[in-house]
Amino acid sequence: MPRNRPGALRAARRVRHRPFRWDTPSPDRIHGLSARTSLAVHRFEALSNHYYVFPGVTDRALRRYREFLTPPGRRPRYPFLEDCGCRGCSLLDVRHARDVLGAVLRGLPRRPRAELGRLVAALDAVYLDRTLPDPFADVRREWRPDVWWYRRLEGCRYAATGVV
Ligand SMILES: [Zn+2]
Repeated sequence: MPRNRPGALRAARRVRHRPFRWDTPSPDRIHGLSARTSLAVHRFEALSNHYYVFPGVTDRALRRYREFLTPPGRRPRYPFLEDCGCRGCSLLDVRHARDVLGAVLRGLPRRPRAELGRLVAALDAVYLDRTLPDPFADVRREWRPDVWWYRRLEGCRYAATGVV
């Protein structure tokens, strides 16, 4: 066998010139996003110091957002507060999931941001359509008046999950 097969050399060079080394295996492509944007998202998640941003969180937030808007029919949907504030459980509150998507969008380079932005904008349109405006949002200033997805009528988590 020749000692320096061109293919082997190319492979070695590829490995040496990889700009990043990951501690975690390469992530799956995020549903609805190109491989390139999925990689940019994963890179941002891996490098972020934000407690609520961790590897895989964008995928989970997108799934939660979609799942919240999925029930068929025209009945309004009511976002609800999650009791546990840990970064896993917090995603149950769809408004928190939207916060996380906002943080990821702000942190991404221009092209992946545009692609993820289109996906989120489509979900935002459904969210606006399926939730009701909170008439007291302006009075209840403690309720994050800065972000519009908190200005929608809130429900009870147990009603939402069918427990009561
Ligand atoms: Zn928790």
